Amino acid sequence: MIEKDMNPKIEVKNLHKYFDHLEVLKGIDLKISKGEVVCVIGPSGSGKSTFLRCINRLEEPTAGEILVNGEPITGKNADINKIRRHIGMVFQQFNLFPHLNVMKNIMMAPVELKIKTKEEAEKKALELLERVGLSEKAEVMPRQLSGGQQQRVAIARALAMEPDIMLFDEPTSALDPEMVGEVLAVMKELAKMGMTMIVVTHEMGFARDVADRVIFMDGGVVVEQGPPSEIFTNPKNQRTIEFLNKIL
Ligand code: ADP
Ligand code: MG
Repeated sequence: MIEKDMNPKIEVKNLHKYFDHLEVLKGIDLKISKGEVVCVIGPSGSGKSTFLRCINRLEEPTAGEILVNGEPITGKNADINKIRRHIGMVFQQFNLFPHLNVMKNIMMAPVELKIKTKEEAEKKALELLERVGLSEKAEVMPRQLSGGQQQRVAIARALAMEPDIMLFDEPTSALDPEMVGEVLAVMKELAKMGMTMIVVTHEMGFARDVADRVIFMDGGVVVEQGPPSEIFTNPKNQRTIEFLNKIL
């Protein structure tokens, strides 16, 4: 049972985030278990991206605490580079390095950070390319790839650091509809392999199929959460009901 997990992979305690006087996160409390797939849904501007960005410290929380594997990642003593090594992130815009071919994109971080030798990184990159179905594209430049292929490379690149948590911020929102499925399929495979994942998405089919838990955020708070079967078929909060009516 998720609520009774004594050793959560991620624990968020009373997280607040301000941008100047704008309070964007208004006290988020959450525990996420190892291997759990959590989909975060909610209207634009509700704080979903800010929440994800706090978890890998792209944003500094204003107050509250985040623990990963029981260790605080917030506060002055947290080692941000170590945190990011454990937590991969994939964005809406794929952000591949345009001047590097696919292999080099994937190998860059582990080699630069001296986590792997060039040979090890190469071996891993080839493995990952196979996993995302792009073995033939190792030598091509990002601009020669479709959006869906670029996003699959971006996922492979994040996995090259061998993270144990993956964060996805609307990974399919910038894609043409015919390419959404190939990216979701890679994510589904990752979920099956036991990756702990937080996925901000508007893909309700994915949330229904793959999520262990769906979290509805609005106005900087978690309004409602539960298994997809509950949230989608029997939402309790009026704001959740209105949001789902608009998008389903
Ligand atoms: P969502 O991802 O749910 O659309 P965001 O987390 O991107 O929401 O944004 C939540 C609110 O925070 C919005 O009002 C947005 O304008 C504001 N915001 C986000 N990032 C910044 C920033 N760097 N500086 C100022 N305001 C920001
Ligand atoms: Mg966002």
